[in-house]
Amino acid sequence: MTHNLVHRLTEIQQSIPPHVRLIAVSKKVSIEAMRVVYHEGLRDFAENKLQDAIVKQEKLRDLSDICWHFIGHLQTNKAKKAIECFPWIHSVDSLKLAQKLDFYAQQALENSIIFQLPQVCLQVKVLPDENKYGWSVEHLYQDLSSLKFLNNLNVRGLMTILPLGLSSTQILSAFQTLRDLRDRLQNSFNSNFDQLSMGMSGDYLLAIEAGATMIRLGTKLFVP
Ligand SMILES: *Cc1c(COP(=O)(O)O)cnc(C)c1O
Repeated sequence: MTHNLVHRLTEIQQSIPPHVRLIAVSKKVSIEAMRVVYHEGLRDFAENKLQDAIVKQEKLRDLSDICWHFIGHLQTNKAKKAIECFPWIHSVDSLKLAQKLDFYAQQALENSIIFQLPQVCLQVKVLPDENKYGWSVEHLYQDLSSLKFLNNLNVRGLMTILPLGLSSTQILSAFQTLRDLRDRLQNSFNSNFDQLSMGMSGDYLLAIEAGATMIRLGTKLFVP
């Protein structure tokens, strides 16, 4: 198991440019497998359920330089916990959630529970998708003036999950739409609004072609 996992990781790393951050989506993965990729140098792990993640963080406490990313839908009543446990939250999908996160970030910073502004991405549906959370492009523009004033979050860029069943051409075009949107919004957010969290096991090469800075891989890395 270990050998194959290391082999897959090496293959993936060789297929992506060095500036693209590989995030291991460990949501369905054993602690042992996480340790294997950690020992191969991987430091970015993503989870989509807060409670499961907290259990794993406890078990991996000795690996203190892991960078934890949250990528699932967050209910607002879990915003406080999410801020305390995740330096990165990719899945900020509504103004209400963003405001809660901002509020708890301020508290956590004041109480020295965290020491850096949480890094967040705004989740956008570039194509209509009933089954997913996130802003439509139009609604994101409507909320922009409010989002700008969230001083306790470091809004780093955009994240998307595409609907199933698209052709390669449609996938590439959707990712390019997200990149263009990031470019257009760059003036609205202060400093470093430069991230594009896009691309999963089935479409990460297209995402990279369109300018992804972070890819989120689960299956491709962990499933034989
Ligand atoms: C599960 C998940 C992934 C990883 O998906 P794979 O297809 O297994 O690589 C990426 N992003 C999000 C938001 C996920 O929930």
